[in-house]
Amino acid sequence: PKRLINLSIRSSRCLSSKAIPEFYYRNQQSATTNGFIGAIGNTPLIRLNSLSEESDAEILGKAEFMNPGGSVKDRAALGLVLDAEEKGLLKPRGTVVEGTAGNTGIGLAHLCRARGYKCVIYMPNTQSAEKIDLLRMLGAEVHPVPAVAFDNPQNYNHQAKRHADDIENAVWTNQFDNPDGNRAIHLHTTGPEIWLQTNGTVDAFTCSTGTGGTFAGVTNYLKSMNKDIGCYIADPPGSVLASYVQSHGQKMDRDGGSITEGIGQGRITENMKDDVKIADGGFTVPDADSIAMLYRLLDEEGIYLGASSALNVAAAFKLGKDLGKNADGTRRKIVTILCDGAYRYQSRLFSRKWLESKGLVDAIPQHLQKYIVL
Ligand code: PMP
Repeated sequence: PKRLINLSIRSSRCLSSKAIPEFYYRNQQSATTNGFIGAIGNTPLIRLNSLSEESDAEILGKAEFMNPGGSVKDRAALGLVLDAEEKGLLKPRGTVVEGTAGNTGIGLAHLCRARGYKCVIYMPNTQSAEKIDLLRMLGAEVHPVPAVAFDNPQNYNHQAKRHADDIENAVWTNQFDNPDGNRAIHLHTTGPEIWLQTNGTVDAFTCSTGTGGTFAGVTNYLKSMNKDIGCYIADPPGSVLASYVQSHGQKMDRDGGSITEGIGQGRITENMKDDVKIADGGFTVPDADSIAMLYRLLDEEGIYLGASSALNVAAAFKLGKDLGKNADGTRRKIVTILCDGAYRYQSRLFSRKWLESKGLVDAIPQHLQKYIVL
């Protein structure tokens, strides 16, 4: 295939073409994208080398932090907007209103600029300042509201719905309970990409859930291709899904809270309703394990990730240990989601004071504490 980088323009001090491995050229895309939207998805699947070498499994992370709005939720935002347009709920110059921990809002804010809509975001006031600032810089109208449970009418989602009901030509995209927009985009994009990127040899998939769109869409697609692919829910403390799956729907235990943002759920959302039944298992990852993995990924893999990604990788690593090798002695391929980068949380995750307030400094191995720079 024709190389897309014109090597002749390199000065003699640049790398020679021989030094640039073949895989780099294979990743070059030959087509331009159709605006911002066309740049969403088709993210790399990264082999996490040091973790894979320490385990009996190949630990593979889907690099969703490389989406143009910086997170896995660019896909959901796209699915929600396309669904609302298709259903005739969103008309030219309309307003998109959504309740979000931040990332869906960021994806929506980008898309609304690109497609000529207004964007109104309701979010719990417990979320990081970085996310709120970014949303405002992207032109969204942001309403940080007290973080109260879903059954309280003042919950951010209900406030978003009421806002959309009260104004003309507005749609509440309802990411938690709109499988047609959210779950569907993962069924049609993330799942098939993982299948293709592993040539159909993926053995297991695990990720945490917020709306559940990612887990449900990917799980449903992978099981439709091969029902033996193991799909496991990874929960932060305080989320009910692991206990729900472990107890076959009998329990919804909810102990403690977590430093992770954007994940953890107290109910079975519409996105998850069908696919929680086909999950093979679920487990809870303590914050201490997530933060230790976050610093390890930075130190050994050179990847700067948010806490939900670190939790996902800790879950995939644990799964690799629990499942062991395949019956024929081959290494299992375990895929997880690298949801977003640490940029959105750095004032917390790299602040000694903040980590101390959460009792997490000691969870970070001594030789990695040099990264606590704030
Ligand atoms: N990680 C982060 C950082 C998120 O913002 C979210 C979504 N809130 C998720 C993971 C979970 O994705 P989903 O909503 O598809 O379950």
